[in-house]
Amino acid sequence: MDAYTKILVAIDLTEEAPQVLQKAKQIQDAHHAELVLVHVVEPVGYAYGGDIPMDLTELQDQLDKAAKAQLSKYGEEYNVSVNNQIATVGRPESEIHRMSEEMGIDLIIVGSHGRKGFQLLLGSTANGVLHGAVCDVLAVRIH
Ligand code: AMP
Repeated sequence: MDAYTKILVAIDLTEEAPQVLQKAKQIQDAHHAELVLVHVVEPVGYAYGGDIPMDLTELQDQLDKAAKAQLSKYGEEYNVSVNNQIATVGRPESEIHRMSEEMGIDLIIVGSHGRKGFQLLLGSTANGVLHGAVCDVLAVRIH
């Protein structure tokens, strides 16, 4: 098997993120690969269907700032260069696909909750990332 050279790890910045990061780090070390850390900030307007008469710019800015701060904390902890700590705005699945293609990623790592039954019907980010990815995808089971 060829070694992976550029790995993208997608993190949601919850307390579960370190489980995904630790696995990504192990694989990065084993493959002597470059690691790219990505967090996608979802536009606040999406949650309200985009039609509430309110200016959400400030709230969005605060969310972006908080995401960047947390990303940089993880970046330092896991020794990821500043250029490879990426916070972007959009829908997680499509942003992860876009970034992977643009950056020549050969492995995407995401967390997976192993949903069952009804929850499975609602879908998951891991599922969305898998469908449409042009490189390998690893779903790390979150406990
Ligand atoms: P979920 O299906 O939303 O519970 O998320 C499972 C995994 O998808 C997380 O562990 C992350 O790897 C990834 N993920 C979810 N949301 C985001 C996000 N906003 N930005 C980057 N990755 C995400």
